[in-house]
Amino acid sequence: MITKEKNIALDVQKVRKDFPILSRKVNGKPLIYFDSGATAQKPKQVIDAITKYYSEQNANIHRGVHTLSQEVTMAYENARETIQKHLNAKYSHEIIFTRGTTESINLVASSFGKKFINACDEIIISEMEHHSNILPWQQLCEEKNAVLKVVPINEKGELLLDDLKKLLSSKTKLVAVTHVSNTLGTTNPVKEIIQVVHSFPSPFRDGAPIPVLIDGAQSIPHMNVDVQELDADFYCFSGHKVYGPTGVGILYGKEEWLKKLPNYQVGGGTIKTVSFLKTEYADLPLRFEAGTPHIAGGIGLAVAIDYINAIGLPAIFAYEHELTGYATEKLSAIEGLKIIGTAKNKASVLSFVLDGIHPYDAGVILDQLGIAVRTGHHCTQPIMEKFGIAGTIRASLAFYNTKEEIDELVKGINKVNQMLK
Ligand code: PLP
Repeated sequence: MITKEKNIALDVQKVRKDFPILSRKVNGKPLIYFDSGATAQKPKQVIDAITKYYSEQNANIHRGVHTLSQEVTMAYENARETIQKHLNAKYSHEIIFTRGTTESINLVASSFGKKFINACDEIIISEMEHHSNILPWQQLCEEKNAVLKVVPINEKGELLLDDLKKLLSSKTKLVAVTHVSNTLGTTNPVKEIIQVVHSFPSPFRDGAPIPVLIDGAQSIPHMNVDVQELDADFYCFSGHKVYGPTGVGILYGKEEWLKKLPNYQVGGGTIKTVSFLKTEYADLPLRFEAGTPHIAGGIGLAVAIDYINAIGLPAIFAYEHELTGYATEKLSAIEGLKIIGTAKNKASVLSFVLDGIHPYDAGVILDQLGIAVRTGHHCTQPIMEKFGIAGTIRASLAFYNTKEEIDELVKGINKVNQMLK
């Protein structure tokens, strides 16, 4: 059971009992899971909701008059409202269900790009983006002969806001940046970024400010996000990184932007009437949700959101902040270990390299000890290029991790050093 009161200290041992996988062993050792940035583990509340859907409720949504269909339609639409409230979006039709962050970004790139991007227009991203927030824009620019501009980062892994200001021009049509870097842990000042971009003269006929898309894949699990307070135009995240199912995610879009965007995928669910001569499309949000969606996923995602809200994001943030501080101190004391990403504002992501040791080899040895870390470029090759490295070892922490697990990681790294140096 989770306490409903927010802002009280998080009881990690109590919370851990909600995650069945945390009691399994890997290679004969208790699992220590430090790969929540790739995908977070699921509490039994989410697992139960998915099981319940398939064992008691399974039906298609939006098109049936029978009881099951109506029940799940209501559950799915309630899930949308849960997410709307969580993000403090103005309307529930601003919440579009997608397959995840990647699809959400592709939706905007494809749809916004079709209507608003022309030759020589400019799109700005940053040097710390995940490939999912680079490639859709790069491809769009190639297709339209537009220009992709990149805001650099400094040696600590912080975005250079002054450089963003310098890159803005009368040709800038969109800015897309991550809220939290999955490799460096940097938390970007997205509210300030949005203000800077919005205060630049509009390049659009209707005078709309330059839209800003925020990749929230790594922020949503760790902090409160209020899209109205941020004034974000688009905000994307994935269910599986916030303790929900894989294959489902969210695109939040301001109503005024979503209304202007042409269709993305079309098909069942996106229409009012169809004839061979003319089709009338549905209103928001269904116009952007073609085909049968991941119904169990949407319902499970709302349960995951309720779950973190029951613990309280302030308590989660405080706990993870303390754990990250502890891990940073302990890891920094290891000889030959260098942390990549030392921004002032950081989420619970620790990337590091070990002198003379390939990250992959370290990952394999840690796995033998039951410790799951991620190794490689983390879908951020430009960051690797910036720091002149092939890859890092990344420990991404969640609120179910403990200081004792960090101590085990430190012991594991010492063993790696003994074996490979
Ligand atoms: N953006 C960031 C910052 C990420 O960390 C990730 C995944 O690691 C993605 C986008 C892509 O998320 P997904 O694979 O769930 O679409």
